[in-house]
Amino acid sequence: MPDKPEYTITFDAESSLGLEHCPDCDSDNTVTYHYNEGFTELECMNCGYMSDAEEIASLTRYDGSLLESDKSIKLPMPVKKIKA
Ligand SMILES: [Zn+2]
Repeated sequence: MPDKPEYTITFDAESSLGLEHCPDCDSDNTVTYHYNEGFTELECMNCGYMSDAEEIASLTRYDGSLLESDKSIKLPMPVKKIKA
């Protein structure tokens, strides 16, 4: 095992060049990242397409909407005034 630091991308992923075609522009100038977690990610060098960009954006939106709805649910009720 190498004991010296290496200059690599920080993700635990292997990249393959030209493995898949870009769904947007059909270019094969792409990089496919194979993550140890078992999923892959496609990045297009031609048009800048990234396969997970929409998923991350939707996840962020979903999380934000959940937080907002959670706040509205937990509105404090004026219990003391009702009891008095
Ligand atoms: Zn593309």
